[in-house]
Amino acid sequence: MVSVSLSRMKINENMNVLLPQPIETEAISFLEKKNCIVTTAPDPKPETVLPLLKDAHGLILRTGITINRELIENADKLLVISRTGGGLDNVDVVSASERGIIVTSNLGVNTISVAEHVLSMMLALSKRLSLLDQAVRNDNFGIRYQNFPRDINGKTIGLLGFGRIGYEIGRICRQTFDMQVIAYDPYLADEKKNECLNWMSLVELKELLSKSDFISIHVPLTDQTRNMVDEAELSQMKSDAILINASRGGVVNESALVKALQNNQIAGAGLDVFSEEPVPADNPLLKLENVILTPHTAALTKECVTRMAIEAAKCVLDVFDGHEPQNVANPQVLESGRWKRLQADRSAQNC
Ligand code: NAD
Repeated sequence: MVSVSLSRMKINENMNVLLPQPIETEAISFLEKKNCIVTTAPDPKPETVLPLLKDAHGLILRTGITINRELIENADKLLVISRTGGGLDNVDVVSASERGIIVTSNLGVNTISVAEHVLSMMLALSKRLSLLDQAVRNDNFGIRYQNFPRDINGKTIGLLGFGRIGYEIGRICRQTFDMQVIAYDPYLADEKKNECLNWMSLVELKELLSKSDFISIHVPLTDQTRNMVDEAELSQMKSDAILINASRGGVVNESALVKALQNNQIAGAGLDVFSEEPVPADNPLLKLENVILTPHTAALTKECVTRMAIEAAKCVLDVFDGHEPQNVANPQVLESGRWKRLQADRSAQNC
């Protein structure tokens, strides 16, 4: 045990980890305990980060900067770019691969936090929490006789996308609220289908739209999913249905959604993501009462950001130790001479 920790000390002693933006102190302490030298950039502007990148062996990346070709070409010592989140839209993975830099992301770490956020929106909208809270503050206690709140128990939830987050929401809705769970996900692996078809049903999109009391969207934003929920889809939903979107704004045509909400074509919406973020002051959604809006915070719980930062730090340490990290976006780099040499050096040091 002692020899492993001493050799690790030796390995990480001169390893620099650059943070273009601060991460949670728990993750920084974790890296420092492993003898890494952690540098936080004063700001995430490319001109600030570029000179700091020259000495960095590892980079832990949030979303405030795009690591483009120019930055990568100035990062001679860089071995790994580790994203705290799941998306890689702010990394030029092609350039990183050309330079033999491993790129990793964090998948699944935020699943439960996003699922809880969606459930809180479903409950808040069904129970009409905003309306009732305002009524109490405005001396309208009598609103209690109008029976605005609705139960969610026994209702049908339709999940558009049944990956990590969709599955978790479906599981909780079934187990906790005895809801009927239906999902549309034509790409679901057979293994996963077999595992869950005893408590949920896979249906076509049309059936999901017309049968669901709640529709929650959990697909990635791709050319195929852009505006997947548009005027035609909204018109097929029940008039008392609620739409939740915590995936990406572009999956829903926001103008069509505004119209559907203004005309009471659907009962309400819970939105964590928008076509433009931050939301511009003239976005008509801001004037609607049948919506709950959150600033893309579904995954940003205190616990989740700490988990994400620690997982990102672990990926960096794995690479420094010559171990294959999780969720490598460019696995071809693991076949490169640069990586094989690093592994050989590390195993020699660990002997
Ligand atoms: P995942 O990859 O585990 O699941 C995505 C699912 O969508 C997969 O099962 C896939 O088969 C399915 N899918 C892909 N294209 C489809 C299509 N055209 N029609 C139907 N299904 C389709 O991802 P996840 O972890 O569940 O996350 C889902 C999305 O949520 C992410 O892509 C991300 O955009 C978003 N997200 C948002 C936040 C937030 O803070 N609001 C946090 C995490 C993730």
